[in-house]
Amino acid sequence: MILRWTLNTQILLGAAIGIAAGYILGHTSCPPTVASPLLFIFGLFGKIFISLLKMIVVPLVFTSLTAGIANLQLTPQTHRMWWTLFLFFLFTTTVAAATGLLAANIFKPGAGLDIHVFKDSMSAYTWRPLSLDGFGPEFVQALFANPVTAMAQNNILAVIVFAMLTGIAIFALNKRAQTVLTFINELSEIIMTMVGWIMRLAPLGIMGLLAELVAHQDLHLLNVLNTYIAVVMGTTFLHGFVTLPAILWLTTGIRPWVFFRAVKDALITAFATSSSSATLPVGLRCVTQNLKVDKNIAGFVLPIGATLNMDGTALYEAMAALFVANLCGIHLSLAQQIIVGLTAMVAAVGAPGIPSAGMVTMMMVLQAVGLPVEAVAILIPIDRPLDTLRTVVNVEGDYIAACLIQKTVDPRHNSKIVV
Ligand code: ASP
Repeated sequence: MILRWTLNTQILLGAAIGIAAGYILGHTSCPPTVASPLLFIFGLFGKIFISLLKMIVVPLVFTSLTAGIANLQLTPQTHRMWWTLFLFFLFTTTVAAATGLLAANIFKPGAGLDIHVFKDSMSAYTWRPLSLDGFGPEFVQALFANPVTAMAQNNILAVIVFAMLTGIAIFALNKRAQTVLTFINELSEIIMTMVGWIMRLAPLGIMGLLAELVAHQDLHLLNVLNTYIAVVMGTTFLHGFVTLPAILWLTTGIRPWVFFRAVKDALITAFATSSSSATLPVGLRCVTQNLKVDKNIAGFVLPIGATLNMDGTALYEAMAALFVANLCGIHLSLAQQIIVGLTAMVAAVGAPGIPSAGMVTMMMVLQAVGLPVEAVAILIPIDRPLDTLRTVVNVEGDYIAACLIQKTVDPRHNSKIVV
């Protein structure tokens, strides 16, 4: 009977079972002889699902972005589209980082907490310096890599750059590259068909990922840092479920509940995988099929957004830096806080769409204002649960951007969405 339910309902059910099973198997007196094999099976489901998503993501990014750009018509609108996208990403990321700073100033998470509780983990932590100076060349190197190496190493940023150049070249050659364009378009269709098959496994995969996540979480640490976690979650929620939907409504006329119903599967996948890149295949399906965004527009907005536009990460990094400052009893001036906000935005752009990527770029934010980078050791053990919601907000921003771009080419777009 369950098989006859819609995929949507199956995914929701999978998520609920996963969370409940993870709690029972990991945090109650369930005998290890029962818990271990069951957790092994859940882990296997999760691994298969996430491996399939990872398998498809590079071919998907390459084909959808190349086709998206090559098929775009060069009109004055194209120019406007690029500008709208850039300004939207800049605006929403700025609002996110500012919200993080503001909330940290109001609630002062970390103030009064005894840093000695974390002394062991901090002294055991070895860090690699990551400064803005060092980050620049590293970022440039990641941008322009050999495309074959980039694809093999899942370096999405370099794949994006190569796909964009290929798309522009096909576009420039026009009729002379017609065969390649047809090939890329067909390849893109083939890959989307495979995405549809992978999605059939989403309920089991999401169940497995969430069961593992909940079962292996250190509840004691979550308890010690509960105020911080509550503030982070609350603020991320505010940005994702109030600010961004309001921007969506005001700019496109799409009602937030219609939007959320349309992209629900993708948001749950982002929650369970904590990876914007792994969520791309599901997001592309939701945005084109349910939100009726043209596949060329979705094909170029979503891959770029998944790597460069991360509101949740910008908000988190700004807030986490202030948390570390409070924890160490260091007062940051307004100017220093602005530096934190700006570096958090750069760090969010630089973070790849994979789990806990924000933790690596976090060091850059801490270093920018001279905070102890070893404090990342406190943030890492609790990062996985926090990463769930911030990844949801990261991908949500991309779907809103796609709707906004669609609106610039089709002013009546919002009236065509029926979910
Ligand atoms: N996990 C996030 C993402 O994939 C990145 C981060 O760690 O903030 O969007």
